[in-house]
Amino acid sequence: MSLDLHKYVVSVPDYPEKGIIFRDILPLMADGKAFKQATDEIVDYAKNKHVDMVVGPEARGFIVGCPVAYELGVGFAPARKKGKLPRPAISSSYDLEYGEATLQMENDSIKPGQRVLVVDDLLATGGTISATIDMVERMGGVVVGTAFIIELKDLNGRQKIADYDCKALMEY
Ligand code: 5GP
Repeated sequence: MSLDLHKYVVSVPDYPEKGIIFRDILPLMADGKAFKQATDEIVDYAKNKHVDMVVGPEARGFIVGCPVAYELGVGFAPARKKGKLPRPAISSSYDLEYGEATLQMENDSIKPGQRVLVVDDLLATGGTISATIDMVERMGGVVVGTAFIIELKDLNGRQKIADYDCKALMEY
């Protein structure tokens, strides 16, 4: 029987600023059955897309992406916060829901023509995922889908990635 994953998300009012409701998905990740169900749902979404690589942004995108990559039998490439990678990297800057940031990927982490699934825990304004997609495409990757555990509908992130197939397990 499938679980209602909403029950594993804790809504935290006024974090990180007054007026913002933060959707904390760490309780979902801490529950073996809920985490497995969320992972399986993303794997189901991706399994006919002939994915070669999974990419996820730091930090919760790693937690979502790695078990999906393992299950699909493909590799995982991280999009890291600026200044963490030892080898030549490409960068993409973006506006966050709260502030601004730069992500980086090692510049050979995606090979031209590879089919890439881009994942994160949550889609808000779409800035993080767009910056990640931008780097994948500049390396010649083909983004065949995007997947999130949560989509915040009011922030219209889906519009920003309207050119891409998009799966969200839950909406808030
Ligand atoms: P966006 O770039 O789409 O505006 O914001 C999404 C990014 O910010 C994701 O990487 C996500 O981890 C983080 N984020 C923004 N708001 C929330 C939230 O309410 N809950 C969680 N878990 N992450 C958030």
